[in-house]
Amino acid sequence: MLLDPRTLLFSLILINAFMVLSLFVASPAKGQAQGLNKWASAILLETLTWLLVAARGAIPDELSIVAANMFMVASHALILAAIYEFQRRKFAPWKFFVPLVLMLITTGLLIEDIAGRFVWCGLIYAFQVVLIVRALWSDAEMRKGRAWRLLLGGALMILAVLGMRAVAALSGMVDFAQPQNHVAMHWVQVITFASVMATALLGSVGFVLLIKERTDRENMHMAMTDSLTGVPNRRALMYQAGVMRAQRSGLPMSLLMIDIDHFKRINDTYGHPAGDEVLRQAAALMEKRLRAGDMLGRYGGEEFCVIAPDTESKGAQVLAESLREILATTPLKTEKGEISITVSIGFTCCTTIGSRELKGLLLEADSAMYQAKQAGRNRVVRSNASMG
Ligand code: GH3
Ligand code: MG
Ligand code: MG
Repeated sequence: MLLDPRTLLFSLILINAFMVLSLFVASPAKGQAQGLNKWASAILLETLTWLLVAARGAIPDELSIVAANMFMVASHALILAAIYEFQRRKFAPWKFFVPLVLMLITTGLLIEDIAGRFVWCGLIYAFQVVLIVRALWSDAEMRKGRAWRLLLGGALMILAVLGMRAVAALSGMVDFAQPQNHVAMHWVQVITFASVMATALLGSVGFVLLIKERTDRENMHMAMTDSLTGVPNRRALMYQAGVMRAQRSGLPMSLLMIDIDHFKRINDTYGHPAGDEVLRQAAALMEKRLRAGDMLGRYGGEEFCVIAPDTESKGAQVLAESLREILATTPLKTEKGEISITVSIGFTCCTTIGSRELKGLLLEADSAMYQAKQAGRNRVVRSNASMG
């Protein structure tokens, strides 16, 4: 295969330039950028590097060697800064300036020594890439997704290329005695160019996907959480109940419907904000009492629902009683003073392979709760239709 160095460099520059353009166009407004602006700037600097490299011979070596490598080091540092910004971590300036100064000294000293540059500049780049790999590896939240693997793959590829270049230089595989007026299209250079081209693609796509993954996670959380109390909302409750029933484990499960008694009076007496505070604290109190597998959610206004897996009627009765009692005996502290509440609870039980519809189960728990209200409130009633 005959690869013309200028053509390869030209494609590299073209691809990078359009990557930069698309990243800047798609970059959200300041403040929500999550590092994308920095990433795009990094690729821009990389593009400038390749422009200078392409002009080697036609421009002074100070530009095509020293400045080009400085741009490349700055590009790597910006990649790291972009990852830090995404992770909402503080980026220490030395991580930018130390490699930059080291590169200035190294390229200045080795401007006539291409083999030396392969080794020593390679070491500086490797140090930067190791910092990038460390930043990726140490982020457990990032590793929940898949996109980080694209970035890691790109980083490892660059490390491999740097290693290859150092070995080639040290072992004399590249004949540096040949005039290196322009970038000699030795296989070492072909692999280097191909890899940096691939890395810019992998990294940029990976970084955009990284942002998308996190946005998706945050949106999902928001869609499933009640904003007032912070507990799962009705959608999340329904989803969880559906998942449990889909597992068809044959285990029992219980559903509790909990409604605060005379809540309207609390609003009327103390005002809506105090009512809100009561809802928040009641949710927190109940959540503390639950087992790890149980799920408390806000079903509606002042109604909560508990889904208790692996819990039959007896267990549900105990659970409901203890929730009722803890709420009845713990005054809730609000800015309007201490407010005492009681709740009425209705519950029903079923097995996860039962044929009864979720809707029906909710109705059963709800009508049991209504019976508790009728019977005088502040009590627990089990649904007649309840099994187990
Ligand atoms: P009962 O004992 O029969 O349940 O009486 P209740 O007053 O609790 O029942 P009702 O359903 O008549 O009233 C519920 C009240 O809950 C009315 C509504 O204004 C209030 N509410 C619903 N959502 C919120 C909320 O987010 N914040 C506050 N402060 N109040 C809410
Ligand atoms: Mg109600
Ligand atoms: Mg009520």
